[in-house]
Amino acid sequence: MITTEELKENLASVEKNIEEACKKAGRDRGSVKLISVSKTNPNEVLEEAYGLGVRVFGENKVQELTGKIEYFAEHHEEQPEWHLIGHLQTNKVKYIVGKVKLIHSVDSEKLAAVIDSESKKKGVISDILVEINIGNEESKFGIDASETLELVKSIAKYPNIRVKGLMCIAPYTDDPENNRKFFKKIKKLSVDIADKNIDNVSMCELSMGMTGDYCVAIEEGATMVRVGTGIFGRRNYAI
Ligand SMILES: *Cc1c(COP(=O)(O)O)cnc(C)c1O
Repeated sequence: MITTEELKENLASVEKNIEEACKKAGRDRGSVKLISVSKTNPNEVLEEAYGLGVRVFGENKVQELTGKIEYFAEHHEEQPEWHLIGHLQTNKVKYIVGKVKLIHSVDSEKLAAVIDSESKKKGVISDILVEINIGNEESKFGIDASETLELVKSIAKYPNIRVKGLMCIAPYTDDPENNRKFFKKIKKLSVDIADKNIDNVSMCELSMGMTGDYCVAIEEGATMVRVGTGIFGRRNYAI
């Protein structure tokens, strides 16, 4: 398990990198939210991170996420923000609506319709992002960039959902510069969609950039970066 000291150092170095990337891009530090991707880490590690000031966690599995939400509800007055960043199946929507700040991974109208009806049932409005498979990778979820406008328009009809922007997972690469073109493309897509002034749709959030490429993503306009390994160290999938 990662030590508190290591966690503290990692958080400080990620923070420093974010600040530098913001400076380079002429952006305010406040315009970028760091999402600490805590998946596969046990509650003890999240507890350490919370103790070091982390208040925004990202998780990719519904069951793991709800377990962690329950843990924090039991142990803390002040609740952190929870972001669902992984693939969401329609039959699991009911477990997270009303509990997460943002669902990053909406990639079909069918899923949006279920989020809408569950939100209505719970009397909440759910904020979502549309996930784009920017590298056209077979192994990734998300829609093709060319389908984005159409999907955004169809989701916009659902009154209990607000489309807040776009999300992408860029291909894995050793050189973050390789992903700059993808981030540029998503940024352009979000600007083009924002220009259409669709009711119920804002394109204020761009969730892009992970441990390997978040600085480049910030330079290209990311408003949310999702950093796991860079904060918590290498993941142990055995737990
Ligand atoms: C795991 C994960 C991340 C974090 O990945 P790292 O490379 O460890 O920073 C970001 N986004 C999504 C959707 C993930 O599943």
